[in-house]
Amino acid sequence: MALTIGAVILLIGLMFLIYYGYTVGVRRSVKPGREHLQKCSLCLQTFERSKLIERQVGDSKLFYFCEECVKNLSEEFERATGMAERKNNGD
Ligand SMILES: [Zn+2]
Repeated sequence: MALTIGAVILLIGLMFLIYYGYTVGVRRSVKPGREHLQKCSLCLQTFERSKLIERQVGDSKLFYFCEECVKNLSEEFERATGMAERKNNGD
């Protein structure tokens, strides 16, 4: 009988330890004060999420773009399409 009670106490203690370890692990996985930060998908610099443009690709994949990368893309696009226009005009 004493052995059974001991086993039950041990089991409860073990379950408590597992539960405690789990909650601490969950709390540690999200660093406090950094939940609102996000990396730009292109330059990989960290920004506040409110400063990034969010685009979803497919069902679950999310991309974030910072102002600098969007500007660079825009300039690159203008250069590329500008060159295409010049080629067309040259014909
Ligand atoms: Zn960027």
